[in-house]
Amino acid sequence: MTTTSFRLLAATAIALAAVPAIAQDMGPFSPTRLSDIDKAISSDAFEGRGPATRAETKTINYIADQFKAAGIKPAGDVVNGQRSWFQAVPLLKSEFATAPSFTLNLGNGQSMPLTQGDQIALRAPMNGQSTVNLANVPLLFVGYGVTAPERNWDDFKDQDVKGKLLVVLINDPDFEGGEGDFGGKAMTYYGRWTYKYEEAARRGALGVLIVHETDPASYGWNTVKNSNTNTMFDIVRKDPAAEHPLFESWIQRPLAEKIFAASGLNFDQAKAAAKKRNFQPVPLKATLSAEGQAQVSTINSHNVVGYIPGTTHPDETVIYSAHWDHLGIGKADDKGDTIYNGALDNATGIAQLIEQARVFAEEPRTQRSVVFLAVTAEEKGLLGSEYYAQNPIFPIAKTAGVINTDGGAIYGPAKNFTISGNAKLGLLDMLIAEGKKQGRYYSPDPHPEAGYFYRSDHFSFAKVGVPAISFGDGNDLVNGGIKRGEALGKEYTDKHYHQPSDEWQASWDFRGMAQDANLLHNLGRDLANSRAWPDWSADSEFRATRDMSAAERGETPAAAPAPAPKGDRG
Ligand SMILES: [Zn+2]
Repeated sequence: MTTTSFRLLAATAIALAAVPAIAQDMGPFSPTRLSDIDKAISSDAFEGRGPATRAETKTINYIADQFKAAGIKPAGDVVNGQRSWFQAVPLLKSEFATAPSFTLNLGNGQSMPLTQGDQIALRAPMNGQSTVNLANVPLLFVGYGVTAPERNWDDFKDQDVKGKLLVVLINDPDFEGGEGDFGGKAMTYYGRWTYKYEEAARRGALGVLIVHETDPASYGWNTVKNSNTNTMFDIVRKDPAAEHPLFESWIQRPLAEKIFAASGLNFDQAKAAAKKRNFQPVPLKATLSAEGQAQVSTINSHNVVGYIPGTTHPDETVIYSAHWDHLGIGKADDKGDTIYNGALDNATGIAQLIEQARVFAEEPRTQRSVVFLAVTAEEKGLLGSEYYAQNPIFPIAKTAGVINTDGGAIYGPAKNFTISGNAKLGLLDMLIAEGKKQGRYYSPDPHPEAGYFYRSDHFSFAKVGVPAISFGDGNDLVNGGIKRGEALGKEYTDKHYHQPSDEWQASWDFRGMAQDANLLHNLGRDLANSRAWPDWSADSEFRATRDMSAAERGETPAAAPAPAPKGDRG
């Protein structure tokens, strides 16, 4: 009791001291409302918001109810001649009924069983097959598994990989100082694990074992395990085997070291060789056997979508987006907790989206329509946003911008802000100008090597050319500066990210989120009231795609740059 009272007093004192500037910055946004919504949908009652579970029904109904109460209109699928709040998102669902079994034959007379989730994490198949039945399949080390002709790089050197399991390194060849031009520390799309699997599928390999290392992956094994050993989803595809090999897995580095040692190789030396352009694939002596039976089905998940029609240009839109899903119920943590609440990831984003809808509905209508899109299955690979971008409700060509939020500020107001990745676009210039009005500065993504550009829903829109950003809260906190901001951020990543302990805390300070919500509100409102079409920078790989639809906007594109090489999302 005494402790609580003391804390309350201390918090009040801080709040009072900071009130004038912050209150102005927060505009019509209320930290209490943001906190209340976050607390509600991250409670155990929402069971971690797994797509296509009973928690989905509860979650999407909650969001639709909030949209309705805010006073916006439904913009989803037409049901009985009327727009509903929901856009059906058909997903391929694949899961192992029981954990698959593995036997690694090291090739030196020894063999060992591997345990799913411990040394290896195998994704349930998404190539259209349901049975994994491998008998002594040879392993082939292919370095970073990259084919990039425009960068004069090819790790495969014409090796036939059919029927083989590829052992590959995570990130790209110059991440730790190798040759080649892959953005240095920043991650190109060649560094993303999705690329590794896609390239293996294109080449007809049986599968991939990505060697997990925390630094180049930018997250720990817990994340790998929690994200890949649950139920897997993809959007329903015509030819899934063109995108997915049968066997998509990660292995821990100590196991890789053992595999290389049994072949008379040193892992570090092999890795050093992979950083060079003249790298040659290395057949390993080890073989892998595996058995698993997946249940594969098609299910429907849903995006929730509402809008406020524009007064003069209703066919033109500004989209606010955030993903509603998290990891659902999964493996228990040390405390026996099985519910992955996702209070920061991404109940905060949904709280902000709902409050944007409410605040927009209370203000005079804008010239362009404003769309509020709560997407599903982000955690399964940006699938809800991918589905919307491929099956848009409002024309993609006339979508002026997408403002995505994935994670909000919970440590109080910050002097700066960021976006995911180091892309350059007009929408960012507008955001920076808007931030200046709050007396705040823009910090470029401090960790472009983590590949955050490919890890949030704005990427689905960028791929179809729409100027899109994922806003990131600042780390230079008004209370405690960068030192405190970085320490808190690191603590969250280490202890709570994608773990059951990502839970709402009474100590979280939602004033920072209110300040950010107001910043994003002003950005979107100004764009929705303008005739401007902010574009990607001239050297952006998304510029050419956007400019292809310029005529639909009544624009004449300036000298369009050459299209980017296929697969280059750097
Ligand atoms: Zn997440």
